[in-house]
Amino acid sequence: MTPATFPNLIDGRTVDSSDLNTDINPSNLSDVVGRFARASRADLDEAIGSARRAFTSWSHSTPQHRFDVLDRAGTEILARKDELGHLLSREQGKPLADGIGEAARAGAIFKFFAGEALRVGGEKIASVRPGIEVEVTREPLGVVGLITPWNFPLAIPAWKMAPALAFGNTIVFKPAELVPASPWTLADIVQKAGLPPGVLNLVLGPGSTLGAAMASSPDIDAVSFTGSQDVGPSVAAAAVKAGTRVQLEMGGKNPLVVLDDADLPTAVSVAVNGAFFQAGQRCTASSRIIVTEGIHKRFVDAMIERMKTLVIDDALKPGTDIGPVVDARQLEKNVEYLGIGRAEGATLAYGGDRLRRDTDGYYMAPALFTETTPAMRINREEIFGPIASVIIVKDYDAALAMANDTPYGLSAGIVTTSLKYASHFKRHSTSGLVMVNLPTAGLDYHVPFGGRKKSSYGPREQGSYAKEFYTIVKTAYTAP
Ligand code: NAD
Repeated sequence: MTPATFPNLIDGRTVDSSDLNTDINPSNLSDVVGRFARASRADLDEAIGSARRAFTSWSHSTPQHRFDVLDRAGTEILARKDELGHLLSREQGKPLADGIGEAARAGAIFKFFAGEALRVGGEKIASVRPGIEVEVTREPLGVVGLITPWNFPLAIPAWKMAPALAFGNTIVFKPAELVPASPWTLADIVQKAGLPPGVLNLVLGPGSTLGAAMASSPDIDAVSFTGSQDVGPSVAAAAVKAGTRVQLEMGGKNPLVVLDDADLPTAVSVAVNGAFFQAGQRCTASSRIIVTEGIHKRFVDAMIERMKTLVIDDALKPGTDIGPVVDARQLEKNVEYLGIGRAEGATLAYGGDRLRRDTDGYYMAPALFTETTPAMRINREEIFGPIASVIIVKDYDAALAMANDTPYGLSAGIVTTSLKYASHFKRHSTSGLVMVNLPTAGLDYHVPFGGRKKSSYGPREQGSYAKEFYTIVKTAYTAP
């Protein structure tokens, strides 16, 4: 059967292309999910123009109207969460339960921001001059460009699209080329929930051309980017040059501290989940497991025993704990880092093998390095695969210093039964997210999300804090 072809969505219409990109199932390389249009520069210009034209009326639509559209979109996403989750898992490789969970999260995000559309307020501030009134209000920005990665292809587009729309902006959205089917379906659902033509435009294509053109466009008012540290700074530089507001969320080298007083089963479950679930392809994945001397041997032994029980198989098969990695390039990168770790003198204590399954796919066993030192590249660079390192430290103070010793600052965790250390860690971690007795990955949808240092640039995403990016403040003075 010929796979379906998916067009760009511009100005409420479908826009085909003869230039097509093929979306492959990483669990089964003979399964083609679909063929996706590649937008030309002219298509992008048309998308930006249509978003600009739609802005005038959408930005003046009533909060009730925006609530209704977002609420309907949320309802439809939730009603179709099994279908969306299946599509996501098929094209990305995360287990089906995670795919469905992510679809449900996308629905919940739309519901949350439906409410936020009703909560745009302002302030009245007493003037320093007699008789004058000062009002501070929030207004939409204009056309926002959304650039998203392949690892959360529903949740991340949802947490950018929903606030952009709730606050009255119009959108040009470019998802990652590697995993386009679920964001395409999401955009289609949101469009059909009642958006006027041009409010949401989807352009598909490579980041190096299409994404770069969005970042440097003077006709886009703000760019929200989630992706790698390799790309993010160039997006920010181009946006600043074009005079565009910009927000970046990027990678991490997230530490998980395990103290001597930790409950061992909790430590193992938190570490295995954080490091290896979703094949380590979460920006919040734990990649440096910093363990104090007294628990080190027991922890590593228990970790390896748990790793032996993990089921690595087709993302859509019931019982799979970890699916394949997303593509051949990521698999090669993982294998390369296994070589780098060994060459640097780390011990590959478990895993790392390429695995064969019923279908040809990018399967690998999660890998744990021990005897590692902080300066090793495996402890400095984001790998973005199911590979973690154990670093031994003497005590809590050394663990905290080691946790913070990274250019990144997205998520950090600690496993301890000590309130004193948990509280100190929350206060002194240099990460944007801190987890106590929980995996470094796994977040609520209604609170702010984002990193520090090289993981993040600009205001926070999600929750009520999203308005900091998606609105602009106006100060008005009135004389009697
Ligand atoms: P990536 O940087 O390669 O691509 C991200 C997006 O940017 C894609 O849509 C891509 O097409 C586009 N892009 C690529 N080159 C571009 C350019 N020159 N100009 C403009 N856009 C361009 O990242 P990826 O491989 O898709 O995703 C994995 C990365 O994303 C990891 O580093 C991960 O840590 C990070 N990530 C961060 C978060 C977070 O919120 N902090 C969440 C998920 C993923």
